[in-house]
Amino acid sequence: MSVPFLDLAQQHAALNEEIHQALSAVIAHGCFINGPETAAFERDFAQACSAEHCIGVANGTDALHIALRASGVGPGHEVIIPAMSFAATAEAVVLAGATPVFADCLPDSHTLAPRQAEAAITPRTRAMIPVHLYGHPADIATLSDLAAAHRLALIQDCAQAHGATLGSRPLASFGGIQCYSFYPGKVLGALGDAGAVVTNDPELARWMRMFANHGRQGKYDHLFSGTNSRLDSIQAAVLGLKLRNLPQWLEGRRRVAAQYARFLAKLPGLELPVLPLEDHALHLYVVLHPRRDALKDHLQKHGIGCGVHYPTCLPDLPAFSPYGGGDFPNARRLQERCLSLPIYPEMTEGQVQEVARAVTDFVTSQDAR
Ligand SMILES: *Cc1c(COP(=O)(O)O)cnc(C)c1O
Repeated sequence: MSVPFLDLAQQHAALNEEIHQALSAVIAHGCFINGPETAAFERDFAQACSAEHCIGVANGTDALHIALRASGVGPGHEVIIPAMSFAATAEAVVLAGATPVFADCLPDSHTLAPRQAEAAITPRTRAMIPVHLYGHPADIATLSDLAAAHRLALIQDCAQAHGATLGSRPLASFGGIQCYSFYPGKVLGALGDAGAVVTNDPELARWMRMFANHGRQGKYDHLFSGTNSRLDSIQAAVLGLKLRNLPQWLEGRRRVAAQYARFLAKLPGLELPVLPLEDHALHLYVVLHPRRDALKDHLQKHGIGCGVHYPTCLPDLPAFSPYGGGDFPNARRLQERCLSLPIYPEMTEGQVQEVARAVTDFVTSQDAR
């Protein structure tokens, strides 16, 4: 039995009729940009995040860029980000004209380490972007205090954290701007690129809505030079109906994670994710092993899809090496050892067992040494 890394076809098959109805409705009314579906999704997603405002944008990278611009970040400024994330976190800082400054991640949750972040603050620092990596909430309680003490903007990269909380508190309650991606493979994914910014601050919300829509107030009333980054009505329609399934999908992911934790407990050399299950969005289930590449080959040979998130930490990528330098022992350990196992809500216990059996075979074999 082969187990795919992700099975979007299965998710979409279950929603097939609803999706087609939603798409037909948009085609019929023809309001493809800023249509009623976009307004409805923004309202529903804000509510799902327990936040006041949501503005749909074109993708998660734009969400981060727009949040930085709204926070007044520009040339000459520095923004502290974790050394391990998807490239977009650093890219958005560069897009805004500022300099990314990397800080190491924590050894257990793999999210921005507050002490390292604090040590990276200079008089040029304007903002900090903690990433809720893999769906594990960053230590946002400590980081938001740190941001407040140094008057830094707090921008949360929530691209992997739909449905994550911290101590059951919504991420929005820690302040700043939360940036979401609805890239198809995310926990809540569109049928293409899409994203959103979420905040409780009405001034930031107003500015971001205008910036993402050509800096305008009325149709041709452009108050400042913005950009075109909007959530299409078609994508909003699909996201709106998918959002209703999010609680149940999160539950499914948490079930799979709990099963992995049971089947993979106490295996030699294998580190499992630390799981505050009720807070974790479980976008990815990442294990660590010193012979990651060999384990990955073994799983693939047995028809099990897996991934590496990510093989190179941000300061070591050619794109960001001009900003690199420094010591990031936890991020570098992670890049060498991390392996993402299949996780999606429709996964059966049999499939989880299949993956666990293949992992167990490898880590208890001679090859694992
Ligand atoms: C996916 C992702 C993004 C970027 O989102 P896009 O919609 O692909 O632009 C940003 N940060 C993180 C951590 C991500 O995983």
